[in-house]
Amino acid sequence: MSIVKDFLLQLTLTVIPIFIYSTFITEKVKSEKNKHVIMTILWGISIILCMSFPVSFGQNARLELRIIPLLLGSLYGGFWPSIFLAGLILLYRLNFGISVGFYNTVLVLLISLPFILFFQKSFKKAKKDKRVKIAVGLSVYYCLIGLTVFGMLRGFTFEHLKVQMIHLIFAVVFTWSFTLLIEKIREIHQLRLEMQDSEKLRVISELTSVFAHEIRNPMQVTRGFLQLLDEPNLAQKKKEYIQLSIEELDRANEIINDFLSFGKPTIHNEIRVDVGNQLHRVVNLIHSYALGYNVEIKTDIYENGWIYANPQKLNQSLINILKNAIESMPTGGMVWISCVSNEDGYIKISIKDQGIGMNQEQIDRLGSPFYSLKESGTGLGMMVSFQIISSFKGKIQVKSEKGVGTEFIILLPQIA
Ligand code: ADP
Ligand code: MG
Repeated sequence: MSIVKDFLLQLTLTVIPIFIYSTFITEKVKSEKNKHVIMTILWGISIILCMSFPVSFGQNARLELRIIPLLLGSLYGGFWPSIFLAGLILLYRLNFGISVGFYNTVLVLLISLPFILFFQKSFKKAKKDKRVKIAVGLSVYYCLIGLTVFGMLRGFTFEHLKVQMIHLIFAVVFTWSFTLLIEKIREIHQLRLEMQDSEKLRVISELTSVFAHEIRNPMQVTRGFLQLLDEPNLAQKKKEYIQLSIEELDRANEIINDFLSFGKPTIHNEIRVDVGNQLHRVVNLIHSYALGYNVEIKTDIYENGWIYANPQKLNQSLINILKNAIESMPTGGMVWISCVSNEDGYIKISIKDQGIGMNQEQIDRLGSPFYSLKESGTGLGMMVSFQIISSFKGKIQVKSEKGVGTEFIILLPQIA
């Protein structure tokens, strides 16, 4: 019975990092990198505690649930946390002297770690249920390796097998429940973030409809007077100031347009639209803007693909995405636009640039209100585009690599 008690103590030691992390870290720490570092340190502490209070049984043999912090730390952290935690286990084990037990630890790690790292990539991409399966599978694998190596080094006895089986059961059950727990916590956190976003959006759309028209009038009047002032014989400096003022007013107007197009539903004014044809128009519209950035646009557009949409809105969302593609290449480059009819009933538009690219965190934040990395960006373009495309029951996928470029894939449901 005391073995079970020992395992229960191990359980407490391994669950503490999860609670500390979800209570104090997820909300407070913003950067993903810092989160990883803190989580890895917490798992490290858990490993040391687990190894300090092991389940002991005959012949100086010791058994602990360090697999759980090692496994979860590796799966959620990635390569370096995994190496760090494995190194920590070895160093701390060395403390107890170089014995059969030490070689046992080294062998088990050498055999199981590459396997864990191999599955880490698919774990990262997988959904909740598959994640749980991968984690449990790896935990079983680790325990079986541990059991075999232990038996080979010290011989199989019934007593050892019994303890190892208890170990396996505990490890599997805990891995299963902890992975579920972590996934649940992440889900709740994600939900809270989304709620904050949608609350922000609700306030924005309420406020804008009230203010937009009020602000627009004086702006249009000012713009008109500025244009009147812009006479041919004016001093160059003054001309520049006037030009700047007009540009700034246009920018303000653009922000208002983005805002206004946001809250409005699009259901009532959707018609049959030829996507390829619309794309050609957009390319023509944006042509001079691209020239200003020294950007060349290459197109490969299939016409005669029809969707139900509001053409102005479709244009606007395409222009937003195209503008971003062009702006991502301040020193010029190439944008490829293609449009094909997919077999699965979708029209697939691809807008691909050779620009600065984005990392995963930046991709994840795309479309949240006011998220912009540009000096004079509004951070509304993508939000509007996402909203428009989803109102046409379409999807946007983003593939991007820092320093290489970005591809936006827009899928729109095709009609006959
Ligand atoms: P804005 O263009 O006003 O900054 P957007 O909502 O259009 O706002 O875009 C948000 C951010 O997403 C941009 O500031 C930029 O950092 C990033 N982004 C969007 N498209 C691309 C792209 N094609 N390449 C690199 N970064 C992009
Ligand atoms: Mg933009």
